[in-house]
Amino acid sequence: MNTLLPSSTAGSLPKPSWLAEPEKLWSPWTMDGEDLAEAKRDALRIALLEQQAAGIDIVSDGEQTRQHFVTTFIEHLSGVDFERRETVTIRNRYEASVPSVVGTVARERPVFVEDARFLRQQTSAPIKWALPGPMTMIDTLYDAHYKSREKLAFEFAAILNQEARELEAAGVDIIQFDEPAFNVFFDEVNDWGIAALERAIEGLRCETAVHICYGYGIKANTDWKKTLGPQWRQYEQTFPRLQASNIAIISLECHNSYVPMDLIELIRGKKVMVGAIDVASNTIETPEEVAATLRKALEFVDADKLYPSTNCGMAPLSRRVARGKLNALGAGAQIVRRELAGA
Ligand SMILES: [Zn+2]
Repeated sequence: MNTLLPSSTAGSLPKPSWLAEPEKLWSPWTMDGEDLAEAKRDALRIALLEQQAAGIDIVSDGEQTRQHFVTTFIEHLSGVDFERRETVTIRNRYEASVPSVVGTVARERPVFVEDARFLRQQTSAPIKWALPGPMTMIDTLYDAHYKSREKLAFEFAAILNQEARELEAAGVDIIQFDEPAFNVFFDEVNDWGIAALERAIEGLRCETAVHICYGYGIKANTDWKKTLGPQWRQYEQTFPRLQASNIAIISLECHNSYVPMDLIELIRGKKVMVGAIDVASNTIETPEEVAATLRKALEFVDADKLYPSTNCGMAPLSRRVARGKLNALGAGAQIVRRELAGA
């Protein structure tokens, strides 16, 4: 990156109401067939324009073409039966009826590659594409076939690697893996979770990132956060091993959360996407608040490795609030950029 403090979002942006019911996860599409395909492309264009208008440097598709960051990817795989559902506890937090793995999992065809190519055609700015991480994928399924979380995670890692290589070939500059499960299953993360992630990025020449957060601002997550105490030290469990991994960028949650910022010191040397926007609140940050979070992060990250970002995706927010937060992120990054240039 040539720009100092290149800004980006964690990934998702709200969808227009003509495409899917707003402020809702797994919101059904309002149309189908060729109309839907064209509407998704239009929504992607708008998401891009809004990021550019806000001065966001590394742009994304705003996840306009997917219903959910994990489910949509899995829907494209064979070996998973969406009719055969079992109730499991996701991330030790909430019960959900989920599909079952019933045979060898495989990617029959590319999942997001056409969408990424379309985004690439629209802009010359650096683009980032989000995929679910292997551990977060297995945590949203019932496994009736492999009977091993580790085995299934490595199967998914191989599939993600196929997709990632094609995304890279389509012109994606940064491939990000979303691993909120890394904030829950610490022993597994260190035993095989990070190794599975490294399998997913094998042979890639583009940049790679892992996004580890405390989730969308939905009730199951905010209730869970209330049980975490005054200091959220979850990152402390996984950062030392991540610091030693091949992942180039770590995306984490900071603003308005109880994460002690000095934990960032544990990944010194990595590029850090610092969450300076709270996605669990409708209050729009001021650019000055964003700048204050970034200045504090600069105590633990070298300026050339600081990537201003959001705590998580903004899909569940209203478009007005998300737009306001995008603008604050762009403007806040600009304030600190100017300070660094003048120093
Ligand atoms: Zn997140």
